[in-house]
Amino acid sequence: MNLDRIVLATKNPDKRAELVEVLAGVPSAGEVVEGPEWPDVDETETTLEGNALLKARAAARATGLAAVADDTGLEVAALDGAPGVMTARYAGPDATYEENVDALLEALDGVGDRAAAFRTAVALVTPDGGEVVVEGVLEGVISTERRGSGGFGYDPVFEVDGRTLAEMPSSEKHAISHRGRALRALAEALDG
Ligand code: IMP
Repeated sequence: MNLDRIVLATKNPDKRAELVEVLAGVPSAGEVVEGPEWPDVDETETTLEGNALLKARAAARATGLAAVADDTGLEVAALDGAPGVMTARYAGPDATYEENVDALLEALDGVGDRAAAFRTAVALVTPDGGEVVVEGVLEGVISTERRGSGGFGYDPVFEVDGRTLAEMPSSEKHAISHRGRALRALAEALDG
């Protein structure tokens, strides 16, 4: 697979920044090319892997470059694994991070079992049709209130060993996170 130049198939600037930071530590990843555009893809698949592949395929096809996409879900045990693939739209189709976190805290109001996991599927698709999909998981608990100012999304309420992801420096988040693990698994799949 020729990975000299890659595009990141995401329009989410927070996710993009994390992908760039983590890929900087992945020797087999090439230069991240900024600028190419492609049409938005509807996330119509029922799995994280399926949606990551849809996004990466569209970007690879449109740009002629290798494309990396991620799709992330938050799975809460007491909610039978919800919001899962609906994580970005938990409080509605155009929900903000704030609204999603409010909806989650409300759904877990008074609930004792707060176990949860972040799951990220990362897909790499090359223009010649090569495809690799890997996954990374981070287990934790949903806190009862927001803490910390780092990260994005649900980070202020996702707690690991007593601290939320928003209370950690980004390097520490990447070292343990679902996205960090998935990208390192991708590097292993490519190098191994
Ligand atoms: P998607 O992968 O674009 O479908 O996004 C899923 C949603 O999960 C995003 O809108 C964020 O709210 C949330 N999310 C994704 N990655 C993270 C993360 O690393 N920390 C906290 N929330 C995240």
